[in-house]
Amino acid sequence: MQAPIIGHQQILEQLYHAIASNRVAGAYLFVGVANVGKETVALHFAKSINCLSPEEGACGTCLSCRKADDGNHPDLQIIRPSGAWIKIDQIRELQHRIIYRPLEGVRKVYILTEAERMNLEAANCLLKTLEEPPADSVLILLTTNLDALLPTIRSRCQIIPFHPLLVSDLAGHLMERFNINETQASSISTVAGGAVGKALGLLQEGAEFDEEIPEIMMVGNRLDAFRIAEKWTAQPEALDHLVTWYRDLIMLHQGAPADLLTHVHHAEELRQLATHYSRLQLQSAIKTIFETKAMLQRNVNATLALEVLALKLLRKP
Ligand SMILES: [Zn+2]
Repeated sequence: MQAPIIGHQQILEQLYHAIASNRVAGAYLFVGVANVGKETVALHFAKSINCLSPEEGACGTCLSCRKADDGNHPDLQIIRPSGAWIKIDQIRELQHRIIYRPLEGVRKVYILTEAERMNLEAANCLLKTLEEPPADSVLILLTTNLDALLPTIRSRCQIIPFHPLLVSDLAGHLMERFNINETQASSISTVAGGAVGKALGLLQEGAEFDEEIPEIMMVGNRLDAFRIAEKWTAQPEALDHLVTWYRDLIMLHQGAPADLLTHVHHAEELRQLATHYSRLQLQSAIKTIFETKAMLQRNVNATLALEVLALKLLRKP
């Protein structure tokens, strides 16, 4: 039995049930934010369909499961954007293969990641397959943006929405599965926004969010700001974490009780700190952090953007 998937139990049960009752749809559309778990569930679904001894999903140990895990099951294919787009050639290739019967498994499974990256030409081409899906085949489209897909594509798929986990639930899973304490688990889950894949990525990177109040809230001189900006350059996730501290200060400004804070263990210090800021300053701090994050995604000069951010966030003497 392989390690259970974190979260999404209802979806998994729904999919297992479809397999057990022989009612697997010809096409699915998994919708949810990046790294929420769509691909993990899609792969597990694919494995479960072709598993030789399924028991509440894929066994993880039979020949079929092992081939799938190694990426060489002849009836499972994952199609990712080649460069920025899923190209029409990739869809044509899929259409060329999908008409043949499965070689080893019960069904041929095709997973298209980032389906919103199909251009119109590729999407129209795929539509033909969706209109008449060959027997013994399953297409699983994954997307972060339902609106970016043609309505004609959406309407031919069974849509399954994926939601991020509650931060507290995710933290619980992380503590159970990995050797980390409650503070680390809740900190990582908060930064990941409940998205399992993002949390696991952060763990793998060895991200350590020290649970001290962020330095930028404590210092007032420009040299400190530049030093802090340099740290952020190496660990941009720190910005997500920073937001959680400013949010706590805003909560305190609004008179919220300490147990509603993310950083509840620092409630007293934060209460002190909150008196140094106006509500407007805190709101503008959060806005500036989000603006900087958006700029970083557009590949602006990161060092410069982070330095400007640090200077803006400096506490006024
Ligand atoms: Zn198996």
